[in-house]
Amino acid sequence: MRVLVKGAGVAGLAAAFELAARGAAVTVVEVRHCLGGNASWMAGGMLAPWCERESAEQPVLDLGLCAADWWDAALPGHVTRAGTLVVAMPRDAGELDRFASRASGHRRVDEDEIALLEPDLAGRFQRGLFFPGEAHLDPRRAMAALYEKLAARGVEFRFGVDARHLAGFEREIDCTGIAAGDARLRGVRGEMLILHAPDISLSRPVRLLHPRLPLYLAPRANHHFMAGATMIESLPAGPATARSMMELLNAAYSVHPAFGEAAIVETGVGIRPAFPDNLPRVERQGGTVAINGLYRHGFLLAPAMARQAADLVFDQDKPAEHADETDSQRRSA
Ligand SMILES: Cc1cc2nc3c(=O)[nH]c(=O)nc-3n(C[C@H](O)[C@H](O)[C@H](O)COP(=O)(O)OP(=O)(O)OC[C@H]3O[C@@H](n4cnc5c(N)ncnc54)[C@H](O)[C@@H]3O)c2cc1C
Repeated sequence: MRVLVKGAGVAGLAAAFELAARGAAVTVVEVRHCLGGNASWMAGGMLAPWCERESAEQPVLDLGLCAADWWDAALPGHVTRAGTLVVAMPRDAGELDRFASRASGHRRVDEDEIALLEPDLAGRFQRGLFFPGEAHLDPRRAMAALYEKLAARGVEFRFGVDARHLAGFEREIDCTGIAAGDARLRGVRGEMLILHAPDISLSRPVRLLHPRLPLYLAPRANHHFMAGATMIESLPAGPATARSMMELLNAAYSVHPAFGEAAIVETGVGIRPAFPDNLPRVERQGGTVAINGLYRHGFLLAPAMARQAADLVFDQDKPAEHADETDSQRRSA
C-alpha cells in the first residue's frame, strides 16, 4: 500500500515509522527544505505524562504512558529515564502544593534529596517533587535519527515540496500541524532558548514553578540546556520577544546563578497546534487520516497517535459503519 505522509514533524515521522513497520510503502513530503525548523524542532523533549496532567486532561496521561517505551524501542539509547524534578522558591511554596494536588506519580523531596538527585542544585531549594517514572530525549537528535532509520528502511523523503499538490497515493496522513488549515485549530506560541552553561550539570528536566513565569530546563549534551517555554495564544511565528527572553533568563538565573554566565546559543519560536479542548485527535475524512492538536505534548503523544493513525489507514477497507465507530472511538481516546 502506498501511503503519503504530509509533514516531517514529530507526528509525521512517528506515523511514517508505524506505517513502514506494518509494511506500507511510505513517502514523507515536507514543505521545508530540510528536517527541522518546525514546532517539533523547538520542543523540550520531555516525556512527562504525570507532570503534564497538572494542566492537561486525563487522556494526555493515558496516551502518554507508552511514549518512553515507544521511543526507546524505535531509537535505542535516545531516551533518558531519570524522572523530572519540580522545584519552587520558598515564597512560591503554595505553587508546589497546588502542583502536587493536581498531579500524580510523584513523591515529595527535601533539600537533601534534591542535592542527591541534582548535586549542582544543593542548597538552592528546600522542597520539591520528584516524578521518577518520567523520561526525556533530545528532540533534534531523535528526529534526525528517526529520519535516518526511516530512509534506511526505504521510506522516501521529499523536502521542499508542498504536499497539497501531490496525488497518486492510496492513503494519506496529514501531519502538517498548524498549517493543516483546520478552522478548529489555534496556534500557541512557544518561545525557547538554548543555553550553554559549562559550569552546570543536570541529569533530568528541572521545572521551576512560579505563579506567572514557570520555566523548565531540559538538559542536552555537553552542558547545553533548552530553557522554555512561553505559552502565548497567538499565531505569528516571528522572532522571540525581548520580554520573553528576559523572563526565561531570569527564571533560569534563579534556578542557578551560573546560568547568568551561560552562552545564548539560540533563541527559537514554535507554534503548537491546539484544538479547543487541548486534546489530540486522529480523524479520518474521506481517504485522509489526520493527526493534529498535539499542543504541548508532541513527543509524548506522537507514538500513541501514530499507532491510531496507522490502524485507521489499514482499517479503511472495513465496512462504513464499523469505520465510523472506530473514528469516534479514536477521537475520544
Ligand atoms: C517551545 C516548545 C516546547 C515544547 N516542548 C515539548 C516537550 O517537552 N514535550 C513534548 O512532548 N512536546 C513539546 N512541545 C510540543 C510539540 O513540539 C508539538 O506538539 C509538536 O511539535 C507538534 O508536532 P507536529 O508534527 O504536529 O507539527 P510540526 O512540528 O509543526 O510539523 C508539521 C510539519 O508539516 C510541515 N508542513 C506544513 N504544511 C505542509 C505542506 N503543505 N506540505 C508539506 N509539509 C507541510 C511543516 O513544515 C512542519 O514541518 C513543545 C513545543 C514548543 C513550541
